[in-house]
Amino acid sequence: LSRRVPQPAGQDEIAQLARTANETLDRLERAVARQRQFASDASHELRTPIAGLRANLEDASMHPDDNDLPAVVTSALRDTDRLESIVTDLLLLARIGTGGTSVQEPIDLGALAEAEVRRRAFALKITTEAVRGVRVRGVRMQLVRLLGNLLDNAERYADSSIKVEVTRADGLALLTVTDDGAGIAPGDRERVFERFTRLDTARSRGAGGTGLGLAIVREIAQVHGGTIRIEDHAAGARFALRLPLE
Ligand code: ADP
Repeated sequence: LSRRVPQPAGQDEIAQLARTANETLDRLERAVARQRQFASDASHELRTPIAGLRANLEDASMHPDDNDLPAVVTSALRDTDRLESIVTDLLLLARIGTGGTSVQEPIDLGALAEAEVRRRAFALKITTEAVRGVRVRGVRMQLVRLLGNLLDNAERYADSSIKVEVTRADGLALLTVTDDGAGIAPGDRERVFERFTRLDTARSRGAGGTGLGLAIVREIAQVHGGTIRIEDHAAGARFALRLPLE
């Protein structure tokens, strides 16, 4: 894969063909490298709860009569939960792009947002402003999941309020989720969408997420032909999803 076609000078067809071939090889090489990195990151993420689980089970088998046994079991269950959520998210991430049985249908984005917000009992103040008739084409389950992940994060990082808006802008459907938390520095706004990225803030460390939430969000946005960006906002974080209108 690291071999390249010798590049003849000039602009004739052969030279262009060689250039295209080499560019394709470059892209393939980068994709393989990303895939390798991902496998290594995923293994690393899985190792931590496995190590915890093993330590607890060893403890339990060596001191079966210990009074602390219930605490050991609780801790083992917590590690099992963590393993389960990482594996569930990894599977979801792997499946999004492959299509499979997921059905595309016309979806009223505003209605979907209002229903999803209503379905969740928020402790925080959440407001929805949705224009009706903003229709997109997509896989309902996936769009619900996308919004759900943004709301989970907003709920985690907001100080006191969250706002969800759906509207049309520049010929696209626009959905924004805005919170009033600490926000995300401009330099971190690309990498938070990468798999397993967790910013080193006090809340992220305590939050115990998988670091896959926003990677899933971006993947779903992309298979729907859309984009997801973090935009400037007076305070807190604002995520903006743009999708083609139906
Ligand atoms: P996690 O499972 O850690 O929530 P995500 O992929 O959903 O993983 O988010 C990646 C990181 O982006 C989080 O750990 C956090 O540091 C940051 N982040 C996400 N949403 C917000 C938000 N609304 N406000 C501030 N930081 C956020």
